[in-house]
Amino acid sequence: MFSPCSRHLFFSTQLRRLQSTLVLAEHNNEGLLPVTQNALSAAKKIGGDISVLVAGTKCGPAAEQISKASGVSKILVAESDVFKGFTAETLAPLILATQKQFSFTHILAPATAFGKAILPRVAAKLDVSPITDIIGVKDANTFVRTIYAGNAILTLEAKDPIKVVTVRGTAFPPEPLEGGSAAVEKAPEGDYKTDLVEWVSQELTKSDRPELTSAKNIVSGGRGLKSGDNFKLLYDLADKLNAAVGASRAAVDAGFVPNDLQIGQTGKIVAPNLYIAVGISGAIQHLAGMKDSKTIVAINKDPEAPIFQVADYGLVADLFKAVPELTSKL
Ligand SMILES: Cc1cc2nc3c(=O)[nH]c(=O)nc-3n(C[C@H](O)[C@H](O)[C@H](O)COP(=O)(O)OP(=O)(O)OC[C@H]3O[C@@H](n4cnc5c(N)ncnc54)[C@H](O)[C@@H]3O)c2cc1C
Repeated sequence: MFSPCSRHLFFSTQLRRLQSTLVLAEHNNEGLLPVTQNALSAAKKIGGDISVLVAGTKCGPAAEQISKASGVSKILVAESDVFKGFTAETLAPLILATQKQFSFTHILAPATAFGKAILPRVAAKLDVSPITDIIGVKDANTFVRTIYAGNAILTLEAKDPIKVVTVRGTAFPPEPLEGGSAAVEKAPEGDYKTDLVEWVSQELTKSDRPELTSAKNIVSGGRGLKSGDNFKLLYDLADKLNAAVGASRAAVDAGFVPNDLQIGQTGKIVAPNLYIAVGISGAIQHLAGMKDSKTIVAINKDPEAPIFQVADYGLVADLFKAVPELTSKL
C-alpha cells in the first residue's frame, strides 16, 4: 500500500522514467563545444533517460568525449561526408529519423547559430512549437525564457507531445565530462543528402583568446572607441586579464571589429564573471546579451549613460586615459 506521499513520489519517479531526451551535440569533429555540456545540464534538469546525437564527418573524438559524461545512457553517432559543414538541411532529416526510431519526449540543442538553424526545422516537421532559448526548467513541461529583449521573464507550459527546445548555454552550468560510460551506437542510417544546399568552405577565425560565450572575463568596446585601431587598447587590457574581447553592435556596424564579436540581442549572449564595458552606452539590446554577468564594470565619459544602471562599478572617465592607466596597473 502507498501512503499519499509515497504514491506521489512513485508516480513522479515513473513519469521521469517515461521521459527521454535527445541532446544534439555541437562539436567540430575533434572535440565538443562547451555549450553541449550546458545543454546536457538542462536535459538532466528535465529528468529521464538521456541520449546524445553526435553527427559529423569524423566525429569519433567528440563522441568519445561526451560518452564520459555521467547520466547519459547512449551516444548515437552518425558519420558521413553529407554532414560536412553541419548544415540544417542534412541534420534535420537525421534527427527526424532518430526521433522516429526512439520516440523521445524532448529534443534539445544549444541556442547557438547551430541549434537555432536546425531545431525550428525539426519542430516544423514534427508539427510542434519550438521552445527557444530557455534559461530555466521548472519541470518536464514547463520552461523559463526571456521576452522583450530580456526585459521580462516568461514561464511557459508546453502541451505538445514532443518538446523541441534550444538552451541558452549561460543559464545552465556545464556538465562535467567524467564519471560516465555511455554506450556508443550508430544512429539510424538513411539518405541524408540534399540538393537544397551545398557546403563549399568556411573560414574560421583563429584566436588564442578565450571563446566569447565561455570566457570568464570579457572586455567589450563600443562606438566610444572611435576606430578599429583603438581596440588595441582593449586587447592590451584583455591580455592582462586573460579575457575575451567583445563589442557593441555600433562598433561592429562601424567596421571597428568583425561581427562575431557582437554581444547583445542580435549577437552573442554572455555571462562571464567580469564584464568591462568601455565606451558603450548600455542600450537595452546590448544589455540583453550581458546583463547576467556576475560583475559589470562600466567606463564611460557620460555620467548619464544607461550602462551605469546595471554596472556594479562605474568609472566616469575618458576611456583613452582610463583604459591604459588600468592596464598599466594590472
Ligand atoms: C533590433 C535591434 C537589435 C539590436 N541588437 C544589438 C545587439 O545585439 N548588440 C548591441 O550592442 N546593440 C544592438 N542594437 C543597437 C543598440 O540599440 C545600440 O544602438 C548600440 O548598442 C549602441 O552601441 P554603443 O553603446 O557602442 O554606441 P553608443 O550608443 O553611441 O554609445 C557610445 C558610448 O560611448 C561613450 N563614449 C564616447 N567617447 C568616449 C570616451 N572618449 N570615453 C568614454 N566613453 C566615451 C558615450 O558617452 C556613449 O555612451 C540593436 C538595435 C536594434 C534596433
